[in-house]
This record gives sequence, structure tokens and C-alpha cells, in this order.
Amino acid sequence: MTPASIGGAADGASARPRRLALPDEIIEIAAALEGAGHETWCVGGSVRDAVMDGPRDDIDLATAATPDQVQALFPRTVPVGLKFGTVGVLDRHRQLHEVTTFRRDVTTDGRHAEVVFARTIDEDLGRRDFTMNAIAYHPLRQVWRDPFGGAADIAAGVVRAVGVARERFQEDYLRILRALRFAARFDFRIDPETWQAAIDGIDGLRRLSAERVRDEWYRTLETARSVRRAVRLWQDVGAAAVCLPGLRDDYPLAADDPSPRDPVLLTTLLVRQAGRLLDRLKASRAEIDRSLRIERGPAEPHDTSPVRVRRWLAQVEPAADDLLAAHRLRTGTEAPWAPVVAGIRERGEATVRSQLAVTGDDLRSAGIPPGPDLGRILGLLMDEVIEDPARNQRDRLLARALEL
Ligand code: ATP
Ligand code: MG
Repeated sequence: MTPASIGGAADGASARPRRLALPDEIIEIAAALEGAGHETWCVGGSVRDAVMDGPRDDIDLATAATPDQVQALFPRTVPVGLKFGTVGVLDRHRQLHEVTTFRRDVTTDGRHAEVVFARTIDEDLGRRDFTMNAIAYHPLRQVWRDPFGGAADIAAGVVRAVGVARERFQEDYLRILRALRFAARFDFRIDPETWQAAIDGIDGLRRLSAERVRDEWYRTLETARSVRRAVRLWQDVGAAAVCLPGLRDDYPLAADDPSPRDPVLLTTLLVRQAGRLLDRLKASRAEIDRSLRIERGPAEPHDTSPVRVRRWLAQVEPAADDLLAAHRLRTGTEAPWAPVVAGIRERGEATVRSQLAVTGDDLRSAGIPPGPDLGRILGLLMDEVIEDPARNQRDRLLARALEL
């Protein structure tokens, strides 16, 4: 983390670049809004990331204009999230930029904060979760608005709640999980008051919807610099006990997974009975099934002979690649049977029924009556082809079927 440092005021100015180079499109959109009398600022995660790593193109804007006013001002807009005040403005390259009306929290139930439109950027920054996410930059006047010292916290590597941490978590308990995610993603510490408030508020996580928890857990796995540290944070604060029952204490992975990471695979390796957890977290049927297949295994073939590896493939497909990846993550090395799998696939050797040179229909046409016998015969043919791929020829298999 080496934020460009120019200046030197105690409010963190030394931690911010003096100016942010912005794409022309952002400046044009901001200029149109400001020209119509609506104050407009760059905000959110993109400003945070720009403070850390320099400019980027996807900058979010916050404005005093209402969504109606934004829609009226630009010829091409997309109603991205009108309920939350977000309008997508399309630039001349049809690139979408999010413009969100200033907001502030009103009522809160801990599940999510209810927001209403606000008049000022300071109100808008005040309802944001962490100081690093509550920095604004004026795209035309090129000045910073950083009332909570977010740039200084970024420079110091600290995740700190905006305002009173305990209250901010009570408004929306998801912020606890977001704190863990940002700490893991940037390898930051969590400020002691924020950390204690997270521990004290941990039971509030029970109120969150399964979807929000799942989404946050997946994003944490995807973005953490180290999955091991992310897991430890969830454990230490108490979030694992509430949200991830079955998370293993002994971190079972040898290798740190390079990105892009696969949250379903990782969850399956990190959590006992992950299929059940994913069901509770309302993951999709496909994700749950995938996890169950990985759990079921068998994790590896009996030995690395082609026959045994074909048998293994017949048993585990379509989970073979997941199991190979699981082996890599658990041991830090490529599975010894991985090259054998590659060879089998390269030669197109059949390991599942759909690759058999005859179908059930073929057998029926050849005079075998439909019923359990037909299925049994197909199974035997499959076994024989797994034993010896050379047998996978239509005529040969039909003749053999009649014998059976
Ligand atoms: P990422 O890079 O992961 O998208 P982000 O900071 O952009 O991180 P978003 O979830 O996209 O996170 O939210 C955008 C901004 O909205 C945040 O930077 C933060 O200021 C604010 N925000 C999002 N969720 C919350 C929340 N639950 N409570 C308070 N502020 C929030
Ligand atoms: Mg974002």
C-alpha cells in the first residue's frame, strides 16, 4: 500500500493523492449534474481503491439530484436500483456509470438500514460503514471530503467504523461481516473499538437473511488476500459459530488458493457437511449438488492405473475436476492421477454412459425389451468399456449385449 503522498495535514491529506485523474466520461456526467445545480461527488469503494492504488475507470457518483432529475438530465439511462436512488447513466460509448442520490439512514432493524434521500454529501458519507468507504472527491473542483479520516486509516491499514461502531452494527449487522471482508481483502487490522463492537454484536448476525450472509462469505473468500486469515477472522470474532456451523478449526488447506477463487469448492473443503450449510444459506440447487458430490467423492482413485482412474471418473463425474482442485488445495501439489485423467480425456475414452457407442434405444431396436434388464446390460457394457476402451464400438457392443 503506497498511497501517493503530497501535502501533510493531520486529517490524512498526506495519505491522499492531491488529485485523482478521472475518466472524461465521469467528469462530463458530473459537469452536467453540477451545471443543473446538483452537487455531485465521487464516492464509495472506487474512491477508496483509487486512494490505495491510483485511478480507475469505474467511479461511482453521488448527487443531490433525485433519480427523476438524473433521468431527465441524460438521454440514456438505466433504472439500476431506483428504490435505492441509483440510476445508470450511459456515456457515448454506452458504458454505464452509477449515479446515486445522497442518502441517509432513518429506521433500522439490524437486517438492513432503511434509507431516505438526503441533501448533503456529509449526510451521505455519515451513513456509510467504514471510514475508508466514506471518502468523497469532487470531480470538478478536485477537492477531497474525508470527514472521518478515511485516508489516514487507509495509510495506517485500519478498518474503522464511521461514528460509534456499536450503533453502526446495530443498524445493520451485515457491517460486521463487511469489516471482516475488508480486513481480509486489504490485509488491514480492525480498530479495537470496532472489533469489540463486532464481538458484542455477533448475535445480531442471526437476524440477517441467509442470502446476505452467503453473499458476504463468498465475496470474502473471493477477495481475501489470504483465505486462512479470513477464516481466522470469522472464527475469532464469533461469526463462524453463528453463520458457519461446521467450519473446521484445523485449517485444512495447504496451499493458499490463487484467484479467481471458487467459493463453493472452498466452502466444501473448509466446512463439515458443507452441503447442509449451503442449503441453509439458500445456495442454488446446482451449488448444493456440486458440494455434495465433492464431499461424497471418493477423493481419489484406488491407484493411478488407467483402469482404476477410469473407474474413479465413472464414479465421480461430473465432480472429477473439483476433486482434482480439492487435492491441489489440500496438499499443495498436483494430484498424481491428474495426468492420467488428462490422457483418458484426450483419447476420448468413455467413462460415462453418454460416451458409450450404443444407447438404450440402440439396444431396444436390436430386440432387447425395455425394463430393468436393459439398464443392467448397459451397466455391464459400461464396465467392460471402462476395463478396455477398445471395446467401445457400436457393432461389438450390440453383439455383446445380445450375449448378455
Ligand atoms: P467492493 O469493492 O467490494 O464493491 P465497495 O466498498 O464498493 O466494495 P459496495 O457493497 O459496492 O462495497 O458498496 C458501495 C459503498 O456503499 C461502500 O463503499 C459503502 O460506502 C457503502 N455501503 C455498502 N454497503 C453498506 C452497508 N451495509 N452499510 C453502510 N454502507 C454501505
Ligand atoms: Mg462496489
